Amino acid sequence: MIEFNTNVLIPPMHHHTGYRPGFDIHAVIDGKARLTEAQFDELYRHAPLIDLGRWAMAVSRRLHPEDYRTYVIDRNINYTNICTARCTFCAFKRNDPEAHDAYTLSYDQIYEKIRELVSIGGTQILMQGGMNPALPISYYEQLLRGIREKFPSVHIHAFSPPEFVEFSRFFNMPVAEVLKRFKAAGLATVPGGGGEIFSDRVRSRIGPGKCSGDQWLDVMTEAHKLGMHTSATMLIGHIETIEDRIDHIRHLRERQDWALANAPAHYTAFIHWTYQPDNTPLDNKRKWNPDSGIPFEFDNGRTVRLADANEYLRMLALSRLYLDNVRNLQSSWVTMGPKIGQLALFFGANDMGSVMMEENVVSSAGTSFRLSEEMICRLIRDSGWIPAQRNQFYNVLKRHDGPQSPDLQPRPAGVFPKRQHEITPEAAAQYKAIELTISAPRIANRESPDKTNL
Ligand code: SF4
Repeated sequence: MIEFNTNVLIPPMHHHTGYRPGFDIHAVIDGKARLTEAQFDELYRHAPLIDLGRWAMAVSRRLHPEDYRTYVIDRNINYTNICTARCTFCAFKRNDPEAHDAYTLSYDQIYEKIRELVSIGGTQILMQGGMNPALPISYYEQLLRGIREKFPSVHIHAFSPPEFVEFSRFFNMPVAEVLKRFKAAGLATVPGGGGEIFSDRVRSRIGPGKCSGDQWLDVMTEAHKLGMHTSATMLIGHIETIEDRIDHIRHLRERQDWALANAPAHYTAFIHWTYQPDNTPLDNKRKWNPDSGIPFEFDNGRTVRLADANEYLRMLALSRLYLDNVRNLQSSWVTMGPKIGQLALFFGANDMGSVMMEENVVSSAGTSFRLSEEMICRLIRDSGWIPAQRNQFYNVLKRHDGPQSPDLQPRPAGVFPKRQHEITPEAAAQYKAIELTISAPRIANRESPDKTNL
């Protein structure tokens, strides 16, 4: 077997593109200086992608010098799709509880999903829902207790700040009290869902009916005070500007500084992902053309920018440089696909996120990437690291460096690897159209009287 070494795959630090920032980037890489918001902006606008990747990779290797990169096996359980909010980027929610496809899962349905997860070696659930006013606090407390009793080894990573703000309203009790009761019933950590972009001007336009950015941050601070770790997220590629993104990430760094100094828990990870437009109301807005020469600016939410792989990787690398107090950055292969997800390991991510048994929210918006444990391990190993299964606290459960590793198992004769991701017929048709456009000039060249290229 060929062994890869990331030193070979990544250009050494002294190779550069010729771009030099107007400040000492090496002090930032070495952890001796903090990237300022103005420097973030400068790098976003001027630094070549490859430089951002090299610098972010250097930070990632300083924080994670280990010879492995991690993933977790979990299952998303969306216990209800009935929701009081009207997020314009969401294709999952049903505002009308009487809609034919509105649902709330029974306890038995949820337990069955967890049983299936445990049977494949899964260790945690990510349980989130819409914000359903019909469910009393007893629904949640009994559910959490039931899961803890039936599956004591399964980590419950559940709900999100917008849900807690609505729980507080539905149950008429402070957020801290809801958190305390849920924690007593079995909730272990709080995922960072619903972070989107904190800025009010953006949030009020894409997430009507959902908590403000300050409320989101306050819920997480309450969770940290109670000793519950959380994760942090950011959604890019909709109506937000770069200033909105910097403002978002600045709030996270400040709150994390506070948590690390004053609370028993903090943000364990940061994950950003890109808006997926299909079936969402926001998709009706006009799209910004990046080749127009006109910079993207905030226009009260009338234009959507959409984020491609370049934009995703730039923000990942900049997040790694800026968030010096958040230890783990996850790759978002669910929205970006397996190959960009793999490339993310070279742009600041140290974790591949989860081998998900189920995902409903992103797939409702038209993106349906699925990766098995074998494929995640393969992506990590091909990048030069040993794949390792972790738990929610980023502790390694299994290092896959032996012949029993999921990606090194010999396949029985005649069994071929499954497709890496599903592709819709529409996307396949589009792909063929692109192929034809590219191949047309080649045919023309071949038929040209000038055969000097042949
Ligand atoms: S994103 Fe979440 S809060 Fe917003 S409408 Fe969808 S389910 Fe509700």
